[in-house]
Amino acid sequence: MSENLSSVEPNTIENHAPESESDALNFEVLLYYHYFPLADAEAYFRVHRDLCQRLALRGRVLIGSEGLNGTVSGPKAATEIYRRILQTDPRTAAMDFKIDPSEGHVFRKLSVKLRPEIVTLGLSPEEDIDPNQLTGQHLKPEDWAAALEDPDAVIIDGRNNYESAIGHFHGAICPDIDNFRDFPAWLREHADELRGKKILTYCTGGIRCEKLSGFLLKEGFDQVYQLEGGIVSYGKNQATRGRSFDGLCYVFDERVAVEVNQTDTHRIVSRCRHCDQPSARYRNCRWAPCNDQIFLCESCEETFGKFCSESCREKVAATAIDTV
Ligand SMILES: [Zn+2]
Ligand SMILES: [Zn+2]
Repeated sequence: MSENLSSVEPNTIENHAPESESDALNFEVLLYYHYFPLADAEAYFRVHRDLCQRLALRGRVLIGSEGLNGTVSGPKAATEIYRRILQTDPRTAAMDFKIDPSEGHVFRKLSVKLRPEIVTLGLSPEEDIDPNQLTGQHLKPEDWAAALEDPDAVIIDGRNNYESAIGHFHGAICPDIDNFRDFPAWLREHADELRGKKILTYCTGGIRCEKLSGFLLKEGFDQVYQLEGGIVSYGKNQATRGRSFDGLCYVFDERVAVEVNQTDTHRIVSRCRHCDQPSARYRNCRWAPCNDQIFLCESCEETFGKFCSESCREKVAATAIDTV
């Protein structure tokens, strides 16, 4: 099953594994997924976890009988080996890697997990979508940019509310949901608004839309399109340069958000928790049990401190007095 992964000489990997701090400015962040049938997901999982550990990668990888979904960081020497190994495995040879240069790791640790789904839409096994069988039409960034201009198009942000809050395509519907598994119910509730329209869906790297657009087709919508490679690829495309994307793209690592729109249409959509002025500064509330992620402008942080609310500020003040 896993010949290509397991046939790699351990020594080859170790020789390229990060050894010293001198590699610290030469890191990559990889974002990737591939839907493919994995008959023995558990064996693949064990070999893959071992590979990631030996390469000293950090990040999150999900493996299931439907495929592979991951985002990892590591020194270039290690990420290059990782990419090469997956690209020489016929099962993942067609997989696209989105690559961001980085000054270091953007994850604290490595987590490789075996899951029933590599993206959790939460449908029953009978209802579940296999994107290799059923998925919306993929649009390249240039075609997506053109489709956005279509007056008959409805753009649906396929991510969670806290992601779309920091940035989204101009004019997109951003469903107020906390979890991807809430999408089927949301789409059924809003079916009347979508009927007869050209539906465009997008997400961070494309993986969620593979299922989401398949679900829409299954629900009877017939004009369903998805942004190939997601926001991340769109932002890297030199023809579109992120045009029409407002704000930043939320990412599930220590960077929190990354730039997308490099054109003059760039604008900030998120607002400071305290003064409601546009701000893309992301901070965690200083009251540790809260730790809420908030937008906080520079001047409010100066006058108010790094708190989401007055009550969190009071709690920290009370603790400080107690310990004096
Ligand atoms: Zn403010
Ligand atoms: Zn708080």
